Amino acid sequence: MKPSLNIGKFLGVEIGVHYTWLFIAVLICVTLAGRFSTMHPDWSGTVVWATAVGTALLFFVTLIMHELSHAIVARAYNLPVHSITLFALGGVANIEKEPETPKAEFWVGIVGPIVSAIIGVICFIAASGLGWSPPDSTTSPIASSLAWLGYINLTLALFNMIPAFPLDGGRVLKAVIWWITKNAEKSSRIAGRSGQVMALLFIGGGMTMALTTGSFSGLWLAIIGWFLIRAATASVVQTEVAETLKDVTAADAMTSTLVNVPSDMPLSGFVEERLSTAPHHFYLVTSPTDDQKIVGLVTPHDVAKVQRNDWPRKTVADVMVPLNRAQVTELDTPLIQALHTMNEHQINQLPVVANHRIVGVLSRDNVVQIVQNRRELGSRSA
Ligand SMILES: [Zn+2]
Repeated sequence: MKPSLNIGKFLGVEIGVHYTWLFIAVLICVTLAGRFSTMHPDWSGTVVWATAVGTALLFFVTLIMHELSHAIVARAYNLPVHSITLFALGGVANIEKEPETPKAEFWVGIVGPIVSAIIGVICFIAASGLGWSPPDSTTSPIASSLAWLGYINLTLALFNMIPAFPLDGGRVLKAVIWWITKNAEKSSRIAGRSGQVMALLFIGGGMTMALTTGSFSGLWLAIIGWFLIRAATASVVQTEVAETLKDVTAADAMTSTLVNVPSDMPLSGFVEERLSTAPHHFYLVTSPTDDQKIVGLVTPHDVAKVQRNDWPRKTVADVMVPLNRAQVTELDTPLIQALHTMNEHQINQLPVVANHRIVGVLSRDNVVQIVQNRRELGSRSA
């Protein structure tokens, strides 16, 4: 998730806020103000609002501490984390790599709920020290604020331990299954599926609650469920694609038909003679003096970046990607890794090289085709 607003850097981790969080921050302030004014009719309006805003800010800090704990443990296991984003339904530490061992997965996942639980207990102890006792007998705004922070952080710890991916409990579940079965894919799939089932229960339960009692919490639960089901489904699909492509390499999926075009050809000629008659997705650009020497790569997409009236005046060399700047992949690179490269650089074709020579080209179409073929074959043999 991309943050809309960066609020600073802490321990080398960017902390950002997604705009949906601002909406929730207002909601929390209003809810807290309502709660404090009902429980403490003797408080003035200013005290009620100051306590509500202060408590909401502290809650924001505890949420960052939860996410930072994920980031710190992830880094200890060599998993880079550049940022944390807070959004409507909580926070997310943007971990850029999947853990390589069940142990790493386990600790990265469980540390968040542990930190929230510790914060919760400390807040309750501090509140009691200041004379707070349940439900909320104290008249001290600080004690009331601490008691609510204790309650919300313990709730957060418990909620996050629900074994539904992508919640922390889902990571822990994945780690345990992974550790028992020694099978990373199988454990991701089970954790993802349990996330989907749990999300459906949230949606069903939340909607029933909202319709029968008219409660806002029901609607809230359904919204969380909807978010969870999207995230869980994305993770299931990702695991399935990774599994389908497990032993496929770039060589298995590439097209080895390569077509050349000289670099000094005007774009108008390139379009009329090549792209309009028998178009390819990808062309190797050759030197004008030596048609064996490859100097770059060009796709119809590169041509489309130039305005049509400029086509007669520009040549293929003006729009091509020079060979030394092009992303390439090796013959024996796993297809899934080549796909990551394409996603990372937002390109649709990737030249495949062997002994410094281009021997083929891999396109997204090739990947989609191979996933489809494998699925069909798989479902028939099952
Ligand atoms: Zn967490």
